[in-house]
Amino acid sequence: MNRTPPLVPGATLGVLGGGQLGRMMALAARRMGFRICVLDRDARCPTGQFADDVVVGTLDDLASARTVAERSAVVTLDTEHVPAELLEQVAAICPVRPAPSVLATIQDRAVQKRFLDAQGRPQARWAPVGSPAELEAALAAIPRPAILKARRAGYDGKGQIRLEPGGDALAAWRSIGEPPAVLEALVPFVREVSVILARAMDGELRVYPLAENVHRRHILHTTRAPAPMPDERRDRALALARTIAVALDHVGVMAVELFELADGALLVNEIAPRTHNSGHYTYGACATTQFEQHVRAVCGLPLGDARAFTGAVMVNLIGDLWANGEPPWQHVLARPEARLHLYGKLLPAPGRKMGHVVLLDDDTDRALATAEDLVARLQT
Ligand code: ATP
Ligand code: MG
Repeated sequence: MNRTPPLVPGATLGVLGGGQLGRMMALAARRMGFRICVLDRDARCPTGQFADDVVVGTLDDLASARTVAERSAVVTLDTEHVPAELLEQVAAICPVRPAPSVLATIQDRAVQKRFLDAQGRPQARWAPVGSPAELEAALAAIPRPAILKARRAGYDGKGQIRLEPGGDALAAWRSIGEPPAVLEALVPFVREVSVILARAMDGELRVYPLAENVHRRHILHTTRAPAPMPDERRDRALALARTIAVALDHVGVMAVELFELADGALLVNEIAPRTHNSGHYTYGACATTQFEQHVRAVCGLPLGDARAFTGAVMVNLIGDLWANGEPPWQHVLARPEARLHLYGKLLPAPGRKMGHVVLLDDDTDRALATAEDLVARLQT
């Protein structure tokens, strides 16, 4: 058991990456009396707006990350794309949670998939692609349609391309910049779900209700919780995620994205060693938000209650809604069950996550319908 003393309020949490996840973590941390020092290339980033201290620099800049570490009692992340080698250096100055080894396993899709294979965890068939010859070999092993994904730095489907039977696969790989990649069989899933859990430094685990996710144009569109899934499948999904968190010796919040097949089989899509978009419903629906839970875990504190008091639906607000200026928020604010979250991003670009709405309603079918109605009304 790790006997590092817990951090007490007044201590500073260093956050590498200043996006919306860091922002909501900062809000939770500051409510609990902690201070926040964030690293981001933009001082006005979503997290910077709620931080005590901002270090301006890129996420691969060691000198900037060291500055954050020198000012912090613990360093954590709002993205898995901070190089693990940099985190190793930061860990010489102050504790990094989750550990750099967790990031090393997760931030490269090929390493992550090898880890899952070694653990015997089910996933889509895959093969590495590092050269035209390897692409040929991968295509021989994995029937198309398939998805080619860059090994590093992807999010919201970026760095991915779908390969159709008979298409020019080499041209497709070139069109995403010929990065080291993995080829993945297209999974005929009937549903996508995710498990959000928190693991403390002493190994204690708290698992949130299973979330069901719908993506649009490769971006998460809606999450509903609890996912309307038979108990046996749900329990298998939760157990699968727990074993992964334990095998990684993860500390903090973690999300495991899963594909559900028609026969009930569950395949791991990917692991995120951090708070997750599909866990936003915990803010409003649950006793402890995923953000507070992450702060507690990385500070060495006991975890909070992960129980939900209500069903909930989350719908993402994407930059396209700003095409004609500020959306008419009164449609959201007029609904008593709706909570509006905006991330303070200064540029509402198409495809960019700008905020989300959480609808608190035990009737999640109704909440999903409301979510679609709201998005239509905001799209003026
Ligand atoms: P994010 O970080 O936003 O979760 P990402 O860029 O890491 O996204 P993935 O999770 O790999 O991307 O894929 C995004 C979505 O694309 C998945 O949630 C799923 O809807 C679809 N997808 C990805 N891989 C496959 C696959 N092998 N078969 C079928 N659909 C897939
Ligand atoms: Mg994903």
